Amino acid sequence: MNKVTIIGSINSDTTLRMKYLPKPGETLHTTELFTSGGGKGANQAIAARRNGAQTAFIGAVGKDDTGKRMITLLEKETIDISGIEVIDNQSTGSAYILLDSFGENSIIIHSGANNHITNAQVKAYQDLIEASDFIIAQFESTLDSTIQAFKLAKQNGVKTILNPAPAFEQIPPELLAHTDLIIPNESEVEILTGIKISSEQSMKEAADYLHNLGIESVVITLGNKGAFYDVKGKSGIIPALKVKAVDTTAAGDTFIGAMVSVLQKDFSNLEEAIKYGTRAAALTVQRFGAQPSIPYGSELL
Ligand code: ADP
Repeated sequence: MNKVTIIGSINSDTTLRMKYLPKPGETLHTTELFTSGGGKGANQAIAARRNGAQTAFIGAVGKDDTGKRMITLLEKETIDISGIEVIDNQSTGSAYILLDSFGENSIIIHSGANNHITNAQVKAYQDLIEASDFIIAQFESTLDSTIQAFKLAKQNGVKTILNPAPAFEQIPPELLAHTDLIIPNESEVEILTGIKISSEQSMKEAADYLHNLGIESVVITLGNKGAFYDVKGKSGIIPALKVKAVDTTAAGDTFIGAMVSVLQKDFSNLEEAIKYGTRAAALTVQRFGAQPSIPYGSELL
């Protein structure tokens, strides 16, 4: 059983369903409103845990009822929540997801407590990282704490996986130098590399750009087209499954968590692991919400 630590965000998601996304200045009525657990970090932790990995979380919530609810959700999944801190005078992270009738979304995030994960906190829960096979981070929490966590991981032979989402252009070289595997989606990889993804050749160019920054392994998720990988001189595309998507929220998070739950530490089964993540994500996009849509390993059989 893989041991995975996630450092990252915990959000309360409010999803507003509507016929189409509003234009600037337009007022629209929703067709439905629902709330669920979310945040890329928490979603990835749940995907890893539901697919069999022993999973621990380093993160933060505010001192409010929402925070209590979000911690309870993770606890119910039997995720180790000992690394989650409750921050005074901060609200729990929240996301407002506008979802249209085609399954497209626009998302607004209030980071709240996610912006208060400190280096001292990472140091305090160092034992969780040291005991792991993999650590996964995203960009919805503090950059400094992610760098610190990846440094500790590398010192202890733990593999580091970066999901650079949401992406920005100037990622500190120090973080990239401590990243073993990077998993951006198409638009994120374009922001990171400046290379427009239009063909497999352009994916290869983007992967080479990232290899040159010191990252050995690259996987680019391509939405309903699947995922491209470029690892140790081998590259290719694993196609997505043909399904009717109703809500793609947490597709990438499911892909990553499920994939890492079956990944060998030397990445020798990466293609198999990507196929597994692809099947898990295909279930997620056929269901509404973030955490409620993430499948259990037993559903993939
Ligand atoms: P993100 O959610 O981070 O933007 P993607 O949209 O690239 O990431 O989706 C991640 C993975 O989810 C894809 O590699 C694919 O396996 C699966 N996926 C996404 N959208 C669909 C879809 N419409 N049909 C089937 N699989 C999908």
